[in-house]
Amino acid sequence: LAVATHAHGDHVGGLHEFDHRLVHGCEAHALSEGRDSYSLDLADFSAESQARLAAAGYDISDGLLTAVPHPGYRPAAHVLKGCEPTRVLAEGDVVDLGDRAFEVLHLPGHSPGSIGLWEAATGTLFSGDAIYDGPLLDEIPGADIAAYRATMERLLRLPVQVVHGGHDGSFGAERLAQIARGYLARTG
Ligand SMILES: [Zn+2]
Ligand SMILES: [Zn+2]
Repeated sequence: LAVATHAHGDHVGGLHEFDHRLVHGCEAHALSEGRDSYSLDLADFSAESQARLAAAGYDISDGLLTAVPHPGYRPAAHVLKGCEPTRVLAEGDVVDLGDRAFEVLHLPGHSPGSIGLWEAATGTLFSGDAIYDGPLLDEIPGADIAAYRATMERLLRLPVQVVHGGHDGSFGAERLAQIARGYLARTG
């Protein structure tokens, strides 16, 4: 079983290999579409995309790829396979793994169907790209700053112990508050 926190290509490339594929309703269509060419080689990015990453605060001087599957592999030839979700998620749904259960939190802003998986018993949040300890992307296609601000307000009220983000290292409540308050201050 695989849960997509959202349908961006850097998160769902292997989803088609799983029997059970879960995604929020707002991104079910995006998941099924796929892309004929999805390169993570910086050289294949448009000048606009490169500028946006740099402006967000990413050091992209070394590119985005540190390894490829085999010598001669061409990142530009990578196809992002679309796949149909087997279950469409909404706010408040529960993903029950048997020994652990996670509540779906709809956390839009980075993308319309961004979700977090919340285990209240342990204060554990898998946050996807709704929040992580790195430059947040809120001006990419599909992003919405007003929605992102509401998500940050919500996250500030969540009694988290640990956040596992979609990028960068895990962090606790104090760092979450710093990131969320910083975002609200920057965009207010
Ligand atoms: Zn993303
Ligand atoms: Zn991402």
